[in-house]
Amino acid sequence: MSKINIVPVFVPHYGCPNDCIFCNQRKITNQDYIKDFDETRKSIEEYLSYFSNREKTTQIAFYGGSFTGLPKDVMEEFLKIGKSYIDEGKVDSLRLSTRPDYIDNEILSTLEKYGVKTIELGVQSMVDEVLIANRRNHLSEIVKTSASLIKTRGFDLGLQQMLGLYKSNKERDIYTTDEFLKLEPDFVRIYPTLVIRDSFLEDLYNSGNYEPYSLEETIKVTKILFCMYYSSEIEIIRIGLQPTDNITLGKDVIAGPFHPSIRQLVLQSLYRDFMLQELQDFYKKAVTIYVNDSQINYLVGNKGANRENLIKKFKIPSLKFKSSENKKIYVESDNLNKELDFDVFLRNYIERLR
Ligand code: SF4
Repeated sequence: MSKINIVPVFVPHYGCPNDCIFCNQRKITNQDYIKDFDETRKSIEEYLSYFSNREKTTQIAFYGGSFTGLPKDVMEEFLKIGKSYIDEGKVDSLRLSTRPDYIDNEILSTLEKYGVKTIELGVQSMVDEVLIANRRNHLSEIVKTSASLIKTRGFDLGLQQMLGLYKSNKERDIYTTDEFLKLEPDFVRIYPTLVIRDSFLEDLYNSGNYEPYSLEETIKVTKILFCMYYSSEIEIIRIGLQPTDNITLGKDVIAGPFHPSIRQLVLQSLYRDFMLQELQDFYKKAVTIYVNDSQINYLVGNKGANRENLIKKFKIPSLKFKSSENKKIYVESDNLNKELDFDVFLRNYIERLR
């Protein structure tokens, strides 16, 4: 269960001057800001009415664009709306996503004034060649400067990473994670690159100059990154794009590893590897596994895939799962019992995966 209530506000792209090759946002002119401010208030009221649990931290989140790249008066108008809910005691703070090159001390002072607590940077890659090839219009150095500024000024820092970008590969994705770890973010999001309709990446894909990761490759690479972030105690708050009416294969997604629950696939694959390593001593034994409710889905796997795999591999005549309060997994058979620690496994598994 999420530790915070998020009230999302999707800020339209008011004429983004950038042209990242994986994005299909077109420049919008003559935007009716006033209408959007009204919509923002309505949407916030509606979301707040869903949240009965005010014991949890509640944040209004400005998503969907490069928030700090908005004209200053427009940005401040959105921030004022957010701040009014803080003043009324209905929310605790604000959060937003933006580009690394749209951060400086003056912008941070404005954000601070209106109660912004969390800033997410859409970084995508820390490899300059990849940033250039994807027309991000900035290099990795600016990411380091912005991230350090955000942290020094006391904001929570989130970093977004894309996998399998044009001109990237497994090694470069791992390098980006290594660089992210040095920036000590409070959390990260991981987005496998998808080929979106009407983007330049679609042309590259159609002309055979770009091949996205397969779902299998995505899971392989994400498993490594998962272990890296986990070992550094950095929370991954999302893996993969949220499916919407258009973000789905056959609509705006032309190609790429689209899947509604990549996190489940990654975790169940890690649990499968874990159990294959740990159950070797239980060959041909009847086994009962005591496992916490938060882990059972990953351990058993989608449609029981992991369970079937273990039974087959170790010729287990009977494999039962029982619910346990404990975070550690306990395996019991007639004459052999074992306590397993998934955390320790993840920490030691990185080198084998790399
Ligand atoms: S990804 Fe963001 S910065 Fe790049 S073109 Fe799209 S909206 Fe603009």
